[in-house]
Amino acid sequence: MTKYDVLQKYYGYNSFREGQEMLIDHILEGKDVLGIMPTGAGKSICYQVPALLLPGITLVISPLISLMKDQVQALNQAGVHAAYINSSLTENQIAKALTYAGQGRYKIIYVAPERLETERFLRFARAVDISMVAVDEAHCISQWGQDFRPSYLNIVQFVKQLPKRPVLSAFTATATGEVKDDIICVLGLQDPKTLVTGFDRQNLFFAVEHPKSRTRYLQHYVADHEKESGIIYCATRKNVEKVYEMLQREGLAVTRYHAGLTSEERQKNQDDFIYDQKPVIVATNAFGMGIDKSNVRYVLHYNMPQCMENYYQEAGRAGRDGEPADCILLYSAQDIMINRFLLENKEENPNFTEDELMTIRERDEQRLQTMNFYCNTKECLRSYILRYFGEESRGACGKCGNCQKHYVEKDMTREARQVIACVEELEERYGINVVVGTLLGGKSAKLREYRVERYPSYGTLNKMREQEIKDLIGQMIQDGYLKQTRDKYALLQTTGRAEDLIDGICTVTVKMEPKSRRAMEEDDRIKGTGKRRSDILNTRGLEFFEILRSLRMSIAREEGLPPYLVFSDKTLVDMCVRLPMNREEMMEVNGMGAFKYEKYGERFLGCILEHTGGIREKFYFGEG
Ligand code: ADP
Ligand code: ZN
Repeated sequence: MTKYDVLQKYYGYNSFREGQEMLIDHILEGKDVLGIMPTGAGKSICYQVPALLLPGITLVISPLISLMKDQVQALNQAGVHAAYINSSLTENQIAKALTYAGQGRYKIIYVAPERLETERFLRFARAVDISMVAVDEAHCISQWGQDFRPSYLNIVQFVKQLPKRPVLSAFTATATGEVKDDIICVLGLQDPKTLVTGFDRQNLFFAVEHPKSRTRYLQHYVADHEKESGIIYCATRKNVEKVYEMLQREGLAVTRYHAGLTSEERQKNQDDFIYDQKPVIVATNAFGMGIDKSNVRYVLHYNMPQCMENYYQEAGRAGRDGEPADCILLYSAQDIMINRFLLENKEENPNFTEDELMTIRERDEQRLQTMNFYCNTKECLRSYILRYFGEESRGACGKCGNCQKHYVEKDMTREARQVIACVEELEERYGINVVVGTLLGGKSAKLREYRVERYPSYGTLNKMREQEIKDLIGQMIQDGYLKQTRDKYALLQTTGRAEDLIDGICTVTVKMEPKSRRAMEEDDRIKGTGKRRSDILNTRGLEFFEILRSLRMSIAREEGLPPYLVFSDKTLVDMCVRLPMNREEMMEVNGMGAFKYEKYGERFLGCILEHTGGIREKFYFGEG
């Protein structure tokens, strides 16, 4: 079998995504790899496909019990023999699993890092042929990451005790330099092929909105997308409750999730969401780790997250099936205060020294500022994200919220020089607000206390609006004329480039939003864009989709599986478009592997034949 056969047979996909193939080839050649890919980019295929081609067993180290179960379930569904070993099993079950594994029954075994230390597991591992150790969520090994897991350090010791060194592959969505270096160094990867890929999620529509009322926006959005599954993230429990109650009052089918609920209730709500009983969940960022629901059509952020990593991970839970999905962040300026408060009160790792803690705090602040810039940039949001994660961007995407807004470009070089003058007169000792206040000629108590009226630049930009000056400063930071200190004071300072501006070598242009148009578009934008199910299917097609969906639901109930593990939405849409009439045609459907066909193919064929009478041409469900 080739890697293409494996992909087709077990997953029903025709081609690899960018990057997947390269990582797989390296592994098959016996080389270590480090794959940096965002959630949903398809990391599992990068180690599962080679696992099925390598002679021995692959161990997958994963920190999340729920994720393991999901993955193993999905593999078994696809006809791959896999198992997991973690603390959710009884000692007896573990013994049984290891006996089976010893007999060569499983190609892939998921293990929690804590297991690696146990005598019994080590004995097993030394007795069998282990071809690869794949480390999922590899950033957990780094003390700089937010999810440091001391038990991850066991991996190194464990590998050393194996009779033959297996290939090591590591995967993570965290791309910062320190974490990357840590993974390579601590895990002891040998000359690894490192690939940053898949951050560009073409099917996701990114937008930042500054609506007057965020709750009204949510209400409209959720009502407009009633049959669709979505996640709404809030920064605090209180906000979760508020938004949840508001949507519920509107009669919408929502549930909620946060650390203040009992674990039974959390489990129940999560299941309601996964099994599509309640398509929408309002949650804090405690929700989502290990959730692999592929048909989430939107992720809305009621509050700004603490950093781009968190944002992209949370937003990335939308559209895992590759179908269009919306990722919309609702911005409000006070979010930065909420986040600063949360950071200041976050639990600190007692193992760190005061110096290390300082460094971490500075990094947190820096990340928060980068997040804030994302919310206020007028550049292409996709490019901004790609640049942040270290992947090459291909210029403006033309289809994110910012690319689709109509901005007017305005040369503001003269105003930019005023800003520089002001920052210098204030001797770089103040943050944005004081600088803006000075330029506006403000009279607040604070400004008077600082006696800013004595500076020549006092009031020089008093014809501008406050937000305009802030936008200008944001642009100047992006262009590299100004910078902010990395501490919580975020003092505004000039850089070496500022001289070019004063000397007239460079110009500053700022994109401005014409006021009237913005109001006009507010309603349009709520609907989002991108190709949706309704773009691909006509009305009758959509009706038929619902029929297939209820068949999927009854199968899921019979088998006690989440519906998306039977077939993804994308597979159902493709069935509606192709209307396969026999096995051969059914196998062409996206996501239809041989094993899945054996299990469900006939029932879906039966359903299609019943509804079309076997005449496809009359029942074309596609657009137009
Ligand atoms: P990650 O682990 O990186 O978060 P997953 O491995 O769970 O992502 O993959 C996300 C989704 O993308 C899954 O539904 C998976 O089946 C799908 N997928 C992965 N690779 C491909 C591919 N080559 N073609 C089509 N779909 C794919
Ligand atoms: Zn764009």
